Amino acid sequence: MEREEILHWLKERDEARLEDLWARADAVRAAHVGPEVHFRGLIEISNHCIRQCQYCGISAGAVGIRRYRMSEAEILACAEEAKAYGYGTVVLQGGEDPGLTEAFITELVVRIKERTGLAVTLSLGEREEHELRAWKAAGADRYLLRFESSDAELYRRIHPSRPGALPDRIALLKRLGDLGYEVGSGIMVGIPGQTWDILARDLEVFRELDLDMIGIGPFIPSERTPLGGALAEELRLQAGDQQVPNDELTTLKTVALARLICPEANLPSTTALATIDPEQGRELGLCRGANIVMPNMTPPEYRILYEIYPGKACIQETAGMCRACLSGRIHRIGRIPGKGTGSRLAALKKA
Ligand code: SAH
Repeated sequence: MEREEILHWLKERDEARLEDLWARADAVRAAHVGPEVHFRGLIEISNHCIRQCQYCGISAGAVGIRRYRMSEAEILACAEEAKAYGYGTVVLQGGEDPGLTEAFITELVVRIKERTGLAVTLSLGEREEHELRAWKAAGADRYLLRFESSDAELYRRIHPSRPGALPDRIALLKRLGDLGYEVGSGIMVGIPGQTWDILARDLEVFRELDLDMIGIGPFIPSERTPLGGALAEELRLQAGDQQVPNDELTTLKTVALARLICPEANLPSTTALATIDPEQGRELGLCRGANIVMPNMTPPEYRILYEIYPGKACIQETAGMCRACLSGRIHRIGRIPGKGTGSRLAALKKA
């Protein structure tokens, strides 16, 4: 699909014509990844963070929040619960937290593998090469790192680099692939300053990186952050009438296009989408290209502290409630819970 066609669909507002996009995305999803919806149990292991991401409610600059870091025993208990529920994967996510040391994560990955055999995805920010290597050697399967925006200038504004480091998540994603990880990435839709051209380019970058998983959710402003205030105003002004809205329709169009552009990829119907449409967001994502859900496994006392944006869906639930709710939603749209790890690389090898 060429840039012109991507832009055309992104800007399309006619409901009848959009039916064609939805039908094509759903057909490509069915043909390439089938009816299964894979569950990835999300464990939010720490909300400590040394970075200053201008969109994120748990960044270093966000004041007035209590910080936590889960113990190994707590994380292992969550992984065992995921196993008992029949999930294929656990995702260990956190802020960029040096307190999650190389040794701690290495030991944790080994233990999770020993006790559950589940696929392990890490999503711990921009870590050092030796750490990424050690974790892969310990048995980690995948790494999840959204590049957030393909536009270098916008990315620099919303995601200041560490002193002395290059602001390049895209280079790191390539490195992760070289190290043998299955690589997941993604973006937020409607970041202040994001124009239609930038979003179309993001979709092209998904294809160029040949990603295994692509997470796409709406940007949700947090009052605790610069992008919930003055910086947002400034960037929106710069984008002018080219500013992409952070709404459900645009998010769904982006998911559908990602499916058409990357037919084999694993695409989650994200929590952010469920947050802006609690009634139907999950189902609409799954019916318009997505094939993955990421039920939250974080214990309730920590879950409320992992507030990357306000009003996050399922914040009051337990892991069991998330499982029941998502299973019901999947069955009601005629789909089935996936078996196995739902690995894209394994699926490609089989085909
Ligand atoms: N520290 C890890 C995990 C970050 S949270 C990392 O940086 O990779 C996971 C994702 O949540 C982020 O990559 C971002 O795309 C999304 N996110 C953060 N703040 C958000 C907001 N205000 N609205 C919507 N999504 C947000």
